Amino acid sequence: MNQTQKYIIPEQFKNQVLMQQIFKLKLGGKDKNNVDDHIIIKTFPCEVMCDEKLQDQQHKLNTIYFHIPLKYYDETKTESEQLVDFANTAQLEPEWYYKMDPDQLTYSKYFIKEDIGCQHFIRACQLLCNTCNKYYTCRFCHDEIEDHKFPKQETKMVKCIYCKCEQPFQQYCQNCKQCFGKQWCEICRAFCNIGNESKPMYHCKGCDSCMTGWAHQWRHCDKCNSCVRVDCFQGHQCVKFDGTCPVCMGDLEDTIYGRMLLNCSHAIHKHCYDQLIRQGEYRCPVCRRFLPVEEEREILINHFKKLLKETVIFRPIRYVQFHCLECQRDFYGAFHSFVVMCGKCELFNVETRENIIGNRELADEEWIKYPETKPKFCTVEDIREILYSKYQIELEKEWNLENVGDALNMYPKTKEQFLSYLQK
Ligand SMILES: [Zn+2]
Ligand SMILES: [Zn+2]
Ligand SMILES: [Zn+2]
Ligand SMILES: [Zn+2]
Ligand SMILES: [Zn+2]
Ligand SMILES: [Zn+2]
Ligand SMILES: [Zn+2]
Ligand SMILES: [Zn+2]
Repeated sequence: MNQTQKYIIPEQFKNQVLMQQIFKLKLGGKDKNNVDDHIIIKTFPCEVMCDEKLQDQQHKLNTIYFHIPLKYYDETKTESEQLVDFANTAQLEPEWYYKMDPDQLTYSKYFIKEDIGCQHFIRACQLLCNTCNKYYTCRFCHDEIEDHKFPKQETKMVKCIYCKCEQPFQQYCQNCKQCFGKQWCEICRAFCNIGNESKPMYHCKGCDSCMTGWAHQWRHCDKCNSCVRVDCFQGHQCVKFDGTCPVCMGDLEDTIYGRMLLNCSHAIHKHCYDQLIRQGEYRCPVCRRFLPVEEEREILINHFKKLLKETVIFRPIRYVQFHCLECQRDFYGAFHSFVVMCGKCELFNVETRENIIGNRELADEEWIKYPETKPKFCTVEDIREILYSKYQIELEKEWNLENVGDALNMYPKTKEQFLSYLQK
């Protein structure tokens, strides 16, 4: 019998842990959703289930994610190293995962397991607050209830959750020998059992705090007064993570959750950003500029550009006044659903200011200035062009032709041509 099995854990110390599983598909497997084809590579704790991230975590539980291509996957590395190395070395085009054979990828899925600690950490002890003299599982749990901040580095005593033995700060219980946390910091007086796979910890002297990550991957910047990734350090934009997150109003400086900087220089929690993107909210909650970053930004812009190319509008056209939230430019254009591009900044972050209903044609100079913003009209030429660009490869195969464009050009374009065609 395990030493700790003789102790009953009170309900208040039971927590739920989101477990992550990395898997690949059997050779020839086509569908990541077919559980029978899954070959599990690794299983490890990812994070503790908590109210702040519930939406994000629920989404993870219901989704199977693309992870890393098999040829880049190194089973000897932890996932946290793996992801950084992959981001630094692999030069893949956006949406690479759709262009590879399903059995040449790794995936990740999630499930829940019961563990011990609180909503913030997996740990087997409570810490004594030097101010109020009460035991709490962590400083966040303390700060939610008490009117003062937990003086974390001053903790001298801990209390084992299993055997309730109170003792000086140490990693193993002196009574029942239970490990309070595989990761621990003597300076911060903190324990964590999430593990290195998803949450490695290192103590940063500059931040005077334990940070998530590998020490060799991060460097402290004195100007930002925070840690910046080594590979982005040169020429990084200095920023101080302070104040609150504009989505959840939670603290950005003192947080155990990932945070990020938007293109507009506003800061936000990583999980709050993901939530906005999932909800189709593509504007910064503070300044309303285009929200998506990095690869997501590229994918979305390309997606909207494609939509714009394939959208046909019918006459009579409703002309409206638009306002670009990026460059603050006002311009007139044809109203067509939601794909409106600002020709100047080539972004789809435009709002409709004023409706002008009429069938006046837009002056040519307006389109000529930013021709890429001109939508396709319901004309033979425009529809032909859309079909051609969309189905070119299929049509060439089907018709066994070199160039479908030439074939299409043999067909009459105008009413006059059509009539003369009929007379032949
Ligand atoms: Zn206290
Ligand atoms: Zn806690
Ligand atoms: Zn104990
Ligand atoms: Zn520390
Ligand atoms: Zn800096
Ligand atoms: Zn937030
Ligand atoms: Zn912003
Ligand atoms: Zn603009």
